[in-house]
Amino acid sequence: MGCYSGMVLSEGIAIGKVHILSYSAMTQVKIDPAKEKEKLEIAIKNSIKELENLKKISKENEEYISMQILLLSDPLLLTKTNQEINLGHSASESVEIVLNEIMKPLLDATSSYLKERALDLSDIKERILRNLIGKKSLDIKTDFILVAEELHPSFLIQHKNQLLGVITHKGGYSSHGAILCRQFNIPYMIANIAAIEGETIILDTRKQQIITSPKDQEIKHYQEITQKLSMEVFEAIEHSPYQFLANISDNSELERVQSYGFDGIGLYRTEMIFMNSDRPYTLEEQYEIYSVAVQAMKNKSICFRTFDVGDDKQLSYITASKKGIDNYIHNPLVFKTQIEAIIKANLYNIVKIMFPMIYSADEFDFLKKWVLQIQKEMKDSSFIEFGIMLETEEALNSIESFKDVDFISIGTNDLVYSIYHIHRDDQNTELEYLKDLISKLKRVVTFCKKNKITLSICGELAAISPALKEFIRMGITSFSVATPAIKILNHIYKEFF
Ligand code: PEP
Ligand code: MG
Repeated sequence: MGCYSGMVLSEGIAIGKVHILSYSAMTQVKIDPAKEKEKLEIAIKNSIKELENLKKISKENEEYISMQILLLSDPLLLTKTNQEINLGHSASESVEIVLNEIMKPLLDATSSYLKERALDLSDIKERILRNLIGKKSLDIKTDFILVAEELHPSFLIQHKNQLLGVITHKGGYSSHGAILCRQFNIPYMIANIAAIEGETIILDTRKQQIITSPKDQEIKHYQEITQKLSMEVFEAIEHSPYQFLANISDNSELERVQSYGFDGIGLYRTEMIFMNSDRPYTLEEQYEIYSVAVQAMKNKSICFRTFDVGDDKQLSYITASKKGIDNYIHNPLVFKTQIEAIIKANLYNIVKIMFPMIYSADEFDFLKKWVLQIQKEMKDSSFIEFGIMLETEEALNSIESFKDVDFISIGTNDLVYSIYHIHRDDQNTELEYLKDLISKLKRVVTFCKKNKITLSICGELAAISPALKEFIRMGITSFSVATPAIKILNHIYKEFF
């Protein structure tokens, strides 16, 4: 029996067998260098194959994709990563080490051209890692507790029904892996543990502890607790004048949105749906999904965020070196198909369309015009509200120019990175920047009030009590959170009234 402590990213208790995905944090598991090298070679080959397919359907990006293929085909990449494997690192760790080393001087450079090249390399890194880890289909049939170096959102999306809990070496409160775990009620801790494949472990976030190979007595005790917890009934409360909205990633959460008393969906992360597939979803497939969500919301509102890829969210058929408008311009068909499906699903005029990672009002105007053009071509006359996610320092600094938006939703996860350079993988719940952020957001509150623009917060800070209290004090009344976080909203509401 072993006992370890860790940092909690998503609450809960899990009992189950360990499945180890990346070995670096596990001192008791030996790496087989030959196997790691073989895995790496296959992952690079598959990455090249993906890009070659992509080149065929994405003519406008041909040059960019060819450059990526060239970088991936460079024998030096394999030589250098194999050298790292020989030193005892896993294949995924070696890819991280080698590419981070190449990227570092580019990222530190002041030239924006060099910074962009670093993003290209980051894109390549993500692609190889996805082929190494994210796409790995597990041969274990039972549910498991994942022990890994880090949690990739695509892996979680594909295995969420099997995942009892997660323990990783790296990760932060606002990483998409953590956000999704909270959304799907999967307990998640950051810890450095020694575990063996197939061993039983208990993950208890209330005590911030992980027990490996627990005694039977301990297992029984925890089974009783989990059973008790599963029988707890949640009661929705009246919460006017506040609006409680839900952040969701797929339709499996709709039932909870309704039973927990949410007033609507404030953020539908549509790219998470896309992550379930190796090819773009067709219009019909997307319509099917969006219309089920619209039907469920009927007399409430539903805000679809146009697919927000880049960074830790990558799709095999899109070359996304950075988040934002470029993804739509470089993949116009994917954008158009998504917009058509959303518009077609807008049966009750309750749909809102939200653009992520907006830097300027010009970008918003351009995208809104594009959507209206698509709507016109469809001969559709449904009512749609248009808004932005406020998640870049540039947009914050020029907030007064966003007079034409219908609503603004503050995405604190990216905004905190943009202003304070605290990466979402490093964000925790100790909010040393909160005071300064609040003072910066006052301008946004004043601007929205003056121009009758609906303002809400959909970043993770909306569900962190000290931050939530500050937002309420400054006059914000609409919050969009992961469904289980309604308990936090209810709790703070009761404290205020
Ligand atoms: C945010 O950035 O705060 C946000 C809600 O979007 P995401 O976490 O999906 O980037
Ligand atoms: Mg964001």
